[in-house]
Amino acid sequence: MSIPLPPNSTIGIVGGGQLGRMSALAAARLGYRCHILSSEPDSPAALVAAGSTVGDYEDPAVLRAFARQVDVITFEFENVSAEGLDLMASIRPVRPAPAVLRISQYRLAEKSFLNGIGVPTTPWAAVDSRAELEAAARRIGLPAVLKTARLGYDGKGQVLLREADEVAAAFDDLSPKPLILEAAVDFACEISVIVARGSDGTMVAFDTVENGHRNHILNISYAPARVSARVDATAQAMARRVAEGLDFVGVLAVEMFVTADGKVLANEIAPRPHNSGHWTIDACPASQFEMHVRAVAGLPLLPAVRHSDAVMKNLIGPEELALWPQVVATPGLIPHHYGKTDARPGRKMGHVTRLFPRGGLPGDLAIAAALGPLAPTIGG
Ligand code: AMP
Repeated sequence: MSIPLPPNSTIGIVGGGQLGRMSALAAARLGYRCHILSSEPDSPAALVAAGSTVGDYEDPAVLRAFARQVDVITFEFENVSAEGLDLMASIRPVRPAPAVLRISQYRLAEKSFLNGIGVPTTPWAAVDSRAELEAAARRIGLPAVLKTARLGYDGKGQVLLREADEVAAAFDDLSPKPLILEAAVDFACEISVIVARGSDGTMVAFDTVENGHRNHILNISYAPARVSARVDATAQAMARRVAEGLDFVGVLAVEMFVTADGKVLANEIAPRPHNSGHWTIDACPASQFEMHVRAVAGLPLLPAVRHSDAVMKNLIGPEELALWPQVVATPGLIPHHYGKTDARPGRKMGHVTRLFPRGGLPGDLAIAAALGPLAPTIGG
């Protein structure tokens, strides 16, 4: 274990979104200041932090000046370059290490890494040309999902290919290249596991969560996941293997598919706190954000226990943000607003947590009723 960062030290967070905001709130409770680096003024994280810099993530002068103002650096945003993080790492410790980003930013490296440590994924192939795409589609079969290997998230930069005659044109439509073709998984459900790992290798993992997406964006999470004990144990073991394989320091999420016959396949690694872990703020003594701050600051990790079952519902876009007055007026809904002023369609504006007694997660109808004004928004 590295020497713990004393209270009043400053944690630099690269990225100003809601993950940085909730990390900064957790850090403040432990006596730390946060300094946010964001490309936009009044970012959700900067609004609750002791300090902030508005600047270009790729400008070495900005990165150097930011690094010198803080004691340790982490990131909540994955589209910063690994070279930028390397530069900052020459000035202050960066946790998790920049090497992790080189894997998680690049789907081809990510899938190779996962398969290399024995974590199964759907069959996939790297695609550099139309001819390679056609060959890969024949080998893997259709339906398949074609994705940009870099810079894709929340379903941006991906297309589902159902028929052979869609294949040729699809290559030209997506950029940047290279692309990756993945066999479409006919999943029974999507789950994720959030693991925290300290620099001494200590690991704790939150209970497996079940996730519902709408338009490729996370909409709702159920904790714990309604899966068999065997699926749960497999998912937990996989996530720990990933954290260990990356020699990770901080919090990471592994997103997975559960197939109808009970196989667990990893989809993606998020090397940071994750939307599917927001319920831990309200349902656990130490949330994913507190665990992340603890790992980054060299404090001991605490057991990732859950005192309640929970459902987390995102507030997405202007339609769902419009329900805010009803949300804050409904007893039992725990509201979280991210402080964003511009409610664009598909943008995550906040979330709501509803707690249930431990072991008492009810059925879908009762969950909908318990979400009150949000009941009509939870469907698939
Ligand atoms: P990703 O950007 O890889 O996290 O994908 C976003 C969402 O798209 C996932 O959570 C799934 O709902 C869906 N998806 C991605 N890849 C596949 C796949 N190979 N098969 C089926 N669904 C997928």
